[in-house]
Amino acid sequence: MSGKLTSIVGPMYSGKTSALLSLVEIYELGRKKVVVFKPEIDQRYSAEFVVSHSGMKTRAFLVKDSDALKKRLGQLNGSIVHAVFIDEVHFLDEGIIDVVKGIIDQNIDVFCVGIDMSYRQNPFLVTAQLMAISDEIVKKRAVCHNCGEYNAVLTYRTTDEVEGDIDVGGMEKYVAVCRDCYRVLTRKRV
Ligand code: ADP
Ligand code: MG
Ligand code: ZN
Repeated sequence: MSGKLTSIVGPMYSGKTSALLSLVEIYELGRKKVVVFKPEIDQRYSAEFVVSHSGMKTRAFLVKDSDALKKRLGQLNGSIVHAVFIDEVHFLDEGIIDVVKGIIDQNIDVFCVGIDMSYRQNPFLVTAQLMAISDEIVKKRAVCHNCGEYNAVLTYRTTDEVEGDIDVGGMEKYVAVCRDCYRVLTRKRV
């Protein structure tokens, strides 16, 4: 039977990595083997761990691109892998789409976890394409940094805009906000 692809998406602080960690625990409780990857670009917390904002963590392989992920997984072929998790998937190249399709065809479940929109409200294409081919999509929300409602679906940049949609950072640069607050905050700035 083919594996299933699940996308877990949302703004920063929406509990995406926490959801990944819970799912890893569920597989491991069932004595299933999981492999966790994250792109090398994201070194906010730790080199070989996936760490949530609340401090929970699990071991992960750092990969520089989709090719490296494919190769690393190939090297584990001896052992049966039940699920592959990829955190911060929006930082990977579009080659990950075909790599993920190939993994599913090997009867392995795949969980792609990432931000769906940049702080400019542009879709991250890699995340969007993965959502399109997913069996299931979980769209997470955060608590709005501005009004405190549990309806934040956007990431707002608190410091000056930079070139491009990607600029790695944490709470010092980004907060999660609801659509209403995003509009108000953006208007204030111009
Ligand atoms: P993500 O991977 O989506 O960035 P994490 O799973 O790493 O999110 O972190 C979620 C945790 O972040 C929550 O359990 C909570 O402790 C903390 N947190 C900090 N700010 C917020 C917020 N604005 N909304 C929700 N959780 C927040
Ligand atoms: Mg995360
Ligand atoms: Zn708000």
